[in-house]
Amino acid sequence: MQVAKRLDRLPRYLFVEINRRIAEKKAEGMDVINFAVGDPDLPTPSHIIEYMCEAVHDPVNHRYPETAGLPQLREAIAGWYRRRFGVTLDPSGEVLPLIGSKEGIGHIALVFIESGDIALVPDPGYPVYSMGTLLAGGEPYFMPLKEENDFLPDFETIPENVARRAKLMWLNYPNNPTGATTELEFFEKAVCFAKQHGLAICHDAAYTEVAFDGYKPPSFMQASGAREVGVEFHSLSKTYHMTGWRIGMVVGNAEMISALFRVKSNLDSGIPQAIQHAAIKALNSSQEHISEHNAILQWRRDKLIHVINQVGMRARVPKATFYIWATVPQGYTSIDFADMLLDEAGVAVTPGVGYGQEGEGYIRFSLTLPDDKLEQGVERLLSWHGRRK
Ligand SMILES: *Cc1c(COP(=O)(O)O)cnc(C)c1O
Repeated sequence: MQVAKRLDRLPRYLFVEINRRIAEKKAEGMDVINFAVGDPDLPTPSHIIEYMCEAVHDPVNHRYPETAGLPQLREAIAGWYRRRFGVTLDPSGEVLPLIGSKEGIGHIALVFIESGDIALVPDPGYPVYSMGTLLAGGEPYFMPLKEENDFLPDFETIPENVARRAKLMWLNYPNNPTGATTELEFFEKAVCFAKQHGLAICHDAAYTEVAFDGYKPPSFMQASGAREVGVEFHSLSKTYHMTGWRIGMVVGNAEMISALFRVKSNLDSGIPQAIQHAAIKALNSSQEHISEHNAILQWRRDKLIHVINQVGMRARVPKATFYIWATVPQGYTSIDFADMLLDEAGVAVTPGVGYGQEGEGYIRFSLTLPDDKLEQGVERLLSWHGRRK
């Protein structure tokens, strides 16, 4: 048996290795406080679950779904975009439900990337952008996100010969892992760059609803010209605490969406219909729980960031996402420092280098653990720092 060479191009998925180390510590009897995984700890709101349970009993939903999703779901997505962002979308051509946005983010590389093509990918960034590119036979060109540029890529520094070979640009604001946010003006610059170089933009908007201090992140689709060059990926995962149900969507440029649909219709048979009904319910009903969840996360953010900045690290206060991106003390790599926190404090974090070379020098804390665990983690960081002095 011989596994295809393209698999050799994929580095090991970071979380596999981290989970292995955490499991090892647990097996040794350590009670690890886990700040490493970005997965909401609070359950899916109960009105969504109740609706899904009803749908599960209906035999109509026991059969194959359509790749294009239920028309009512596409309408619900368009309605949500209209209410939330004032963006009008055609539910039959500009909306496509996904089996979680990761699925579409990975597959869209097959639409644009041929062997030797380039995708412009943020560094640090969500690993799926470059993995999809590599699987399609392309090359990621990493756009550094630097703190001095507020973690925005500088389009001016992309070499002309790279821009010429690039077919796709990935953006993600509010940003994982840096917690950075941006405004429409930046998206409009990106649209100009895309038009100038004839490339497509994919914006990953997974965190637009996870925001604090009254801040409302914009959608890429609000930028003028966005629909001519790009699409936006969204997800019910973070917004409605539905990571386990696997449902997301892509909206925007009709040509891009129809091309992605061609790929998907040959690979998958859509999202289980009961879950589509749950999504319709989530999108169409009261959005009150979003601000309730955000209030909880904001409390956790404030608790943790205060201590991070006291124990030899430095972090900006994020206006959105449930991540804190903190510098590691001088003299440590991000992996060494994350290992040390695990060994000496029993606290797991993600080393920044797992998100790309530019992530070196940082670690990521996720706020998706119960309040009492977070408080315990905060205590551990303080006493660990005390012991070191
Ligand atoms: C969590 C996350 C997603 C969403 O993934 P799903 O597959 O929809 O659960 C997408 N992009 C980023 C950057 C994320 O952190």
